[in-house]
This record gives sequence, C-alpha cells and structure tokens, in this order.
Amino acid sequence: MASASAVPVPASHLDAARDAEPATRAANAAMAAKLPFADRRDFEAAQRGLIAAVPDGMVRTASGSVLWNLGEYAFIDGELAPATVNPSLWRMARLNLANGLFKVTDRLYQLRGFDIANMTVIEGDTGVILIDPLTTAEVSRAALAHYFTHRPVKPVVAVIYTHSHIDHYGGVRGVVDEADVAAGRVAVIAPAGFMEAASGENVLAGLPMARRSQFQFGTMLPRGPRGQVDAGLGKSVARGTPGLIAPTMSIVQPIEEHTIDGVRIVFQLAPETEAPAEMHMFYPDLGVLNMAENACPVLHNFIPLRGAVARDPRIWAKYIADAIALYAPKSDILIGQHHWPVWGRDAVRDHLESQRDLYKHIHDQTLRYMNKGWRPAEIAEAIDLPAGLAGRWSVRGYYGTVSHNVKAVYQRYLSWYDANPCNLHPLPPAPAARKLVEYMGGAAAAIARARADFAKGEYRWVAQVMKEVVYAEPDNREARALCADALEQMGYQAESATWRNAFLYGAQELRHGVFQLAARLAFSADMLAGVSSDTFFDLMAIRLDAAKAAGLAMAINWHFTDRDEKLVLTLKHCTLSHRLGEWSAEAAASIVTTRATLDAIVLRKTTPPEAIQAGKLRIEGDASRLVLLFGMLDQPSGLMFDILTPGEGRA
Ligand SMILES: [Zn+2]
Repeated sequence: MASASAVPVPASHLDAARDAEPATRAANAAMAAKLPFADRRDFEAAQRGLIAAVPDGMVRTASGSVLWNLGEYAFIDGELAPATVNPSLWRMARLNLANGLFKVTDRLYQLRGFDIANMTVIEGDTGVILIDPLTTAEVSRAALAHYFTHRPVKPVVAVIYTHSHIDHYGGVRGVVDEADVAAGRVAVIAPAGFMEAASGENVLAGLPMARRSQFQFGTMLPRGPRGQVDAGLGKSVARGTPGLIAPTMSIVQPIEEHTIDGVRIVFQLAPETEAPAEMHMFYPDLGVLNMAENACPVLHNFIPLRGAVARDPRIWAKYIADAIALYAPKSDILIGQHHWPVWGRDAVRDHLESQRDLYKHIHDQTLRYMNKGWRPAEIAEAIDLPAGLAGRWSVRGYYGTVSHNVKAVYQRYLSWYDANPCNLHPLPPAPAARKLVEYMGGAAAAIARARADFAKGEYRWVAQVMKEVVYAEPDNREARALCADALEQMGYQAESATWRNAFLYGAQELRHGVFQLAARLAFSADMLAGVSSDTFFDLMAIRLDAAKAAGLAMAINWHFTDRDEKLVLTLKHCTLSHRLGEWSAEAAASIVTTRATLDAIVLRKTTPPEAIQAGKLRIEGDASRLVLLFGMLDQPSGLMFDILTPGEGRA
C-alpha cells in the first residue's frame, strides 16, 4: 500500500448517494445465499486473546485532532448487510473491527485496529521487540502506550520491518528515538533491499500513486452503508506523521537465524512477492510463524489499484510452499501483519496450502488461457476462484480480485498490448470519445439508451459507455450523473473493498467534482534522506521540462561531503544523466555541498541562494548553470489531477 491521509468530507456528499437498485439487491442476495455465513470460526479467531480494546476506539494528537476513529464504523453493527453493501464484504468489515491488544501466546502480543496493519510485540529477556510500527508516529505511539498499560514497561530493544510498504514502517519514530538507534541501543532489522524498495516504489511515481490510493482506500469517502465500510486489509489508513529510520541490520541470506534479546528468530527472505523486499519469520521457541503480508486471509493484489510494478505470483506461491516445508510441521499459530491469527497446527498448514494454491492457480490458469490466445478481459471473465477454495472465506477477494489479478499476470508476461494492431495506435481517450459519441448519434441518444440499460441492471456497460460521453462532453450533467449512478451500484455489489472504494469515489468525483487539496510532495523528509544519490538524480531527471532544455548541453560536478560521494550530471538531448563516482574536467561548474542541503532544497526548506549564503553550498565555475538547471525542473504538480474527466493540457 501507499501513503494516503484521510481528509474530512462534507456530509452533503453522502446525501447524493442513492439506494440499492433491484438488480443490486438481487446480486447481493445471491451472494448471501451462496456463502457459508453460519461458519463463525473467524469471529472467534479474531477475538481470541483480547486483553483490551483500543481506548475510545480513537487516536488523537496532543491538540485533539482525530487521526484514527473506529467510532466512524459504529454503523457496522449487525450480521445482516444493508442492501448497499455486498454481504461478504460486510462480514469482513465486521471482522476488521476486532481491535485492541491481543495475547497470541506467551511472550507474543499483537496490537490490531490502531491502523490498517498490525504491530506485533515480542517480549525479550530485557525489553520488547516491535514488528512493523504502523503508518504514522502518532498511531504507533498510541498502540505501544496501550501495550504498556497492560504489560510491564520495558525498553524497545529492536524494531523489525517485515517489508517495504509504509504501513509497516512509517510509524517507527513514534516508538523509538533515532539517537537510541545511532547509539546501538535499538536494532532496526529489515530484509535485504529494504531501503531501495521503500524509497524507490513510492518516490519516482509517488504522486500518481498517492492520487490513485484515494480510490483504493476510499480515504475521502464518507463512512457509512453508502460509503466506505472497509479497506480489505483493515478499516483504513491512519493519518499523522510518517517517517523512516534506516535499518541497522539487513537479512541477506535466504534463511538466517538470530537470537534477539533471548528470542530465537528464523528469518526467511521472500523477495519480489507482495513487496519487493519482504520476509517471513518463524519463532521456534514460541511455535509461531509470522507470514508478514504474504498469507493474509484474503486474496491479495498482484497489482494494487494504486499502481505498482506487477508482482510475481509464481514466486509468491513458491515462498509460501517453502514456508510450509520448513515451518508448518512446527507451527501451532500463524500470524500476519494484518488481520487475525490462524490457530492450530493443522489449520496453519491448511491455510498456507490454500494461499499457495490461490496465487499459483490464478497465475497458471491465466497463462493457460494466454497460451490459447485469449485477451486479458476475456481471461478475467473466464477464471474464478478454484473449486474447493471458493467457499473458503480466507481466499476471497476483499483486497485483490481474481479479475484484476488476471490482468496483472497478463501485463507481467505480455505487457499492456493485446497484440491487436487496431489497439496499437488508437486515438487518445478524449478525441476518441468525441468521435464515438458522434457515431452513436450524439450524447442525448447515447444517454437515452443507457438509461434503458441502467433499468435492466447493466451497470458495467452503462459506466463504460457514459465514460465516453463524459470524455466527449465533460460538462454534460446528465451523463455524469448516470455514470455516477452506475458506478455506485457496482460499488454496492463489489465484494472487494478496494473495488467498492474505487467505484464509490469515482461516483463522488463525478457528482461533486474533485477536491482541490494543496500541492504536496509525495514523500517525507525521511524517505528522501533514505533515497540513494543514484535514485535522487533520477528523481531530478524525471522533473526536467524537456522543452526548456532544447538545444542545451552542459555538465555539472557534484561533491556531497556528508556522504563522500562525487558524481557528474550531464544534460544532453533534453535528458539528464549522471555517473556516480565520476568527475568531469570539462564541467561548467562544480558544486560542493551535502546531500542533506540538497534534500532541504527539494523539500523547499531552503533555497540555493540561502544555502550559499549559509556556507552550505559552494559553486566553483559558472554559477549561472545551477540556476539554469533548477529553472528547467518542473515544480511538483497538484495531486488532484483529473481521472473521471479528460483533464486539461492533454490530447
Ligand atoms: Zn500492509
């Protein structure tokens, strides 16, 4: 997942939501009839070991602003789903309300429901080991305080990041002081490649990911039976201050065993699975297997809706299979960094085998159809959860879906292109939409026919065709309203929380327009500091306004004294390139500074002239070149770009 902070939404946005149409009621009733709702084991598993719920269900700042509030979900109070919520999703939305401090077994506790993810606590001989300190400092601090209210107060001796997603490390500064890490009093342990993955995935494409995350998590949707009810992995993403402290110890071998404060931990690396850098852990003395985020009781994403490099379900299944072989015979409890544990040795094996086969099945069957020449959307329609698994709650698509995971497999192997040359060079969306609507006999004719299809419950098609009318005529209120109505019914029917959120948020933007949040950087100061200088200059290169660089060529040397790094940056062919460890005698200018100073300039905490005046940046040679360079870089653009409508400045 990626960072996304909730903002208050006017209640009027909920008023516009419509009730479930007859076709939606029928679809949700069919779902209710098909699944084993009498099976209550997950509810028992989710409550087992509860010591104390999240105090007031809430986390506030010192000044009182609310960063996390389970009270918003008080409407989720009965077994019977409202007609506007898929009953299977409703069940998960109830399960994800289990919250508080839980005793899993002697020495191992979990804090759930303080954020989307769990923080796991292992009691060592002298202190506590924290696994995955949530998304923001405020919620991790509150979670740890809750633990200390009920357990002996001891120092934090280690923090372990299971993987490189922000809901598993962003709150680290709420539970440890960086000075203690620097002094060696707290170890920070992560899988190999953690820092590059944590900064890489969310920095270069961070801005569109943040915008798309709003759709995935429904952060700006009102909570309610016609709004956001869940996020699949948990209720939502906590607000507050994210940060990052670099690991002091990396797990680099496929399997490594360490004793940390008297606790034996076997680390199993699982790279390129749910995250580029991820690992499982087995605690031999506790009989507990921690699968991080690779075996949650849901179908996960091969590509999340926020966007990511396509994940590899084949490798993912293989690492689960390795965990079965190595640890299942010795594991009495399985925990994850989301959701509740699996209890009992047989149940652990059974759960892992179903997760392994779930990911492998979707991968294998997609390739089977690809090898027959089928297209992504056709394969997505043909494949469903495998027989024997479909009736299990723990493999259902609350977060990922079979449909979009199939398309991710196709993309991973064969790209976005379906090989039909008619799709190789089509008109871009808006001009194509204008021609299509003209061919359909105009917007009014298209809307009239779409209304008839809406009445028949054909919401997918209505949204598909109204999208064209909205792109042809962005101000056509009737088309926008009908498109919103269709998306809304699709949201009400969706079993996946992320699909529901996307459909309902799409409807909200069509009805009310786009909230104009202030432009912001897509990364924190900590994240930028964690970026290697190699990636840092890539980040600079992707901001180059090519038109402004036309006809220019230059080289600039850089020396970062705080990192003992030298490199040369070259502008040629409207493209910035850099070579680490090189220094050009022909460079027009050489800049001696620190990465910290350059980071501060990017974060707009200082400017180059201020840095020069403060003696933090020295230019040898032609100083005007630096001014020229910075003048060619785009300022970060607004986050809230158009999605449901064509947007300006495009084809
Ligand atoms: Zn997570």
